[in-house]
Amino acid sequence: MKRSQGVLKDVFGYDQFRPMQEEIIQSLLNRQDCLVIMPTGGGKSLCYQIPAILFPGLTLVISPLISLMQDQVQQLQAQGVAAEVLNSSLTAKEYRRVLSRIYNNELVLLYMAPETLMKENILEVLNQVPVDCITIDEAHCISEWGHDFRPEYRSIAQVRQRFPKAVCIALTATATERVQGDIQKNLNLEDHKIFISSFDRKNLFLQVEERQKGNNQLLSFIGDFPQLSGIIYCFSRKRVDELTAQLQGLGFSALAYHAGLADKQRQENQELFIRDEVQIMVATIAFGMGINKPNVRYVIHHDLPKNLESYYQQIGRAGRDGLDAHCLLLYKDGDRSKIRYFIDQIQDPQQQRAAYDHLEHMMDFAEAPHCRRIPLLSYFGEHFEQDNCGMCDNCQGKKRLQQDITVEAQKFLSCIVRTGELFGVNHIIDVLRGAKNEKVLSKEHHKLSTYGIGKDLSKKQWVLLSRQFLRQGLITADEKYGSLLLSGNTGALFRGEMKVMGYLMQDKLKTNTSKAKDYGDIDYSREIFERLRQGRRELAMAESVPPYVIFSDKTLVEMASKKPRSRVDLLAISGVGLKKLEKYGETFLKLIHGEAYDPSSLIKKTEEEKRSRNQIIAEEFNQGAAPGELMEKYNLKMTRLVGYFEGYIQEGGTMDKQRIRDLLGLEEEAFKAIDGFITEKGLHGLSNIPQGLPQLKVNRNQQKLLQIIYG
Ligand code: ADP
Ligand code: ZN
Repeated sequence: MKRSQGVLKDVFGYDQFRPMQEEIIQSLLNRQDCLVIMPTGGGKSLCYQIPAILFPGLTLVISPLISLMQDQVQQLQAQGVAAEVLNSSLTAKEYRRVLSRIYNNELVLLYMAPETLMKENILEVLNQVPVDCITIDEAHCISEWGHDFRPEYRSIAQVRQRFPKAVCIALTATATERVQGDIQKNLNLEDHKIFISSFDRKNLFLQVEERQKGNNQLLSFIGDFPQLSGIIYCFSRKRVDELTAQLQGLGFSALAYHAGLADKQRQENQELFIRDEVQIMVATIAFGMGINKPNVRYVIHHDLPKNLESYYQQIGRAGRDGLDAHCLLLYKDGDRSKIRYFIDQIQDPQQQRAAYDHLEHMMDFAEAPHCRRIPLLSYFGEHFEQDNCGMCDNCQGKKRLQQDITVEAQKFLSCIVRTGELFGVNHIIDVLRGAKNEKVLSKEHHKLSTYGIGKDLSKKQWVLLSRQFLRQGLITADEKYGSLLLSGNTGALFRGEMKVMGYLMQDKLKTNTSKAKDYGDIDYSREIFERLRQGRRELAMAESVPPYVIFSDKTLVEMASKKPRSRVDLLAISGVGLKKLEKYGETFLKLIHGEAYDPSSLIKKTEEEKRSRNQIIAEEFNQGAAPGELMEKYNLKMTRLVGYFEGYIQEGGTMDKQRIRDLLGLEEEAFKAIDGFITEKGLHGLSNIPQGLPQLKVNRNQQKLLQIIYG
């Protein structure tokens, strides 16, 4: 086992294996197939990457998403591991280069989508080199029961026969047994080992609050740490747009993401978030697939998710780096009825029942009087034993005491009886609280003996009580009409032979929000950390990679805490392997000790390179090169291309304005019509174009281009 330990330290810079990693690696090295089920952030990648490094031949990695593959490959390359992606988006030259690296047996890991692997010509190439391992990442894609079924995954089993010597590992974060069964069946895993790890993400702080009117709650939460990355999930696109505008108006660095935006815009917003250039992503559930950003410090749900599985998946995007992260769920009673309304429309009775069931599980979580991990994990079939997890609002705040609510139960239930078991919860509460509304009066319910006997409690308190009665089985709700009925042993209750225990009101939660702010309990210098972050950003820009490819936040925090003085000290920091030590060691030592540090010295060389690159690219453009051509030639996205233009102007260059206008892609007519207006008012005027003139809607790139023209 020494060898894999060595790779863990030298290549990845980590001292210890996480639970199960060591056993999984050992199984693969012994050529035994494995099925690995581990939550997001559990550390699945190392399980096949370390054996890959130790195997003499190639490891193939099948993965469904190009963005994920590229991300992994960038990280591996930064660690000095020979890895490549093979896919159709490569240029012909790139493609040939990758193929020749395969032929020469230079590669350790080769990532590709299943479609690519199925191609006969690719199979022929691969059959000429030793393949030691086939990894099937996101293996739930093979199952129709999973959340993203990919039919191509079904063919992997046949292809496997072409590589009889290769050991096989399938990995997923989807826990349901049905999906597991499907994976085993469809992959023909034989004599394999199964590793299922706990789904408890210990570093996620779980908090639920009732949503108040306005957004003050949310704003005060993120206001505490505006410089950290976070995701805010909302129910509707409209809500996303409104909230984004509000946040931007308040000076937060926020962008929107939802299916209503143009593909390009969406992609660009995502990219800016991943690169730490924008801190907050306000999104619908469309956002998150394939996001590998490790330093998301909080996930806020502005509305109630429709089931615990999606909730778990969404909060799972926080804290992948293992540092503490905060999950805040805001909900209102109304959310429940909103979702119920949607469920009511479902035609298929079986699906409808399942949806109600999901909603109930969600409510059990949202209204849990005890540790939130109990309902969350029990949903995944796991029994949470601990008495106090220390990482949820209910465990952190002092435990709420149950009270005797027998009298309340008697009042509530007798009111149901008096009104003939015909009414829903709202009406029952109205009668209890002595409301004088039309419905009460017309039914003559103000004449009942139970009328007004529950005035001492608020409507909200009664709603909460009614849920507890439901949960304790004292009453049920008619499936169709929602009218409340008695059930269970109510005779004993009325005779006073039975006690009911519960909670009168959810405590006002005053949990502090410092969890995410402080990166857990680590004591570190903020000042150094900020310096490291800034340095990392600049390096990342120069290398065109996301910042986390250089070092994770966790690594930076540790540096800012231990303040290593030498290369040897640095190597002891988690996340610093040999390759990164060689590449960035000196730079980060300087940054840590800030010896009269001048940020420009750090990237002097790259700044120069960048400068000449700004110039080269901008001048080619001015001389008539098509933007598409430039993007292909230099492997750039539009944002980057525009960035070079901006850089060039900052260096004192001038851009060909007519060509920039062409690049803008705006209707020439419309543009002409407002030209005068913008010239007069400046670009600020854009958001305030008077009626009668065409209204311009511009994305970020276009805004920058306008800046170049009018700037
Ligand atoms: P998953 O694929 O299961 O979501 P990853 O493989 O992306 O998780 O790992 C999550 C994070 O944990 C990564 O930043 C990874 O480098 C880190 N990690 C994995 N194994 C270890 C370990 N043994 N020690 C420290 N960090 C680790
Ligand atoms: Zn808890």
